[in-house]
Amino acid sequence: MARYTGPVCRLCRREGLKLYLKGDRCYTDKCSIGRRNSAPGQHGQNKKKLTNHGIQLREKQKVKRYYGVLEGQFAEYFNIANKMQGVTGNNLLSLLEQRFDNVVYRLGFAASRAEARQLVVHGHFTLNGKKADVPSMILKVGDEIAVKETSKSLPKFKSIVENHKVTVAQWLQVEPDNFKGRIIAIPTKADIELPIEEHLIVEWYSK
Ligand code: SF4
Repeated sequence: MARYTGPVCRLCRREGLKLYLKGDRCYTDKCSIGRRNSAPGQHGQNKKKLTNHGIQLREKQKVKRYYGVLEGQFAEYFNIANKMQGVTGNNLLSLLEQRFDNVVYRLGFAASRAEARQLVVHGHFTLNGKKADVPSMILKVGDEIAVKETSKSLPKFKSIVENHKVTVAQWLQVEPDNFKGRIIAIPTKADIELPIEEHLIVEWYSK
C-alpha cells in the first residue's frame, strides 16, 4: 500500500495553505505556513502566474495531498465518481470523505489522516463489528466504526476518549465513551473544511 513518506509541511507550502497533515502541530505557531508561506525550493519565492492547466493541476494536487491519496488511486476515485449519478465533482469529494481513514480522523479518533491511516492498517478498528484494516475503503451510510475491544485500553485511545473535543461533522455521529461512531448521511462539499474548486479537477481529467 503505497503512500507519500516525504516531508509533509512542504506539501502545504507548495499549495500555499494549511492542509492539516501533522495533527496538533498544525494548530500551533510551529506551523510552517504561518512562519514562511512560500513554495519550497530554491526558487520558491518567485511567484509565477499559473496557466489554466497549472491552476487545474494545483487543485488536483491540493485535494490529493489533503486526503493522502496517490495519483493512481485518485484517478480511480475520479472514474468511479464519473460513472455515478449526479455531479462528478461533488461525487468525487463525497467518495474521498467516505474513506475509512478519513472517517476515523473526522470522528476524532486520530490527530491527522496519516495517523488514522496507520491506526486502521494496524487493525485497531472494526467496521460493523468485523475486523477491517483497509484505509481506502469507501464506507456508506449506516456503517459503524469502533475501536477494537483489545485496543480500548491503549493510552492513545484512553486519552482520546477523555479529551474528546472534536466537533464532528453533521454526517457523522460519535459516542466517544463507547469508542465508536457511525455514518448517518452522505457527506457533501459543505462538510469539507478545505476550500475546493472541484470543477477544476473535473476539467483536468476531462482533457
Ligand atoms: Fe501543514 Fe500542519 Fe505543517 Fe502547518 S504544521 S505546514 S498545516 S502539515
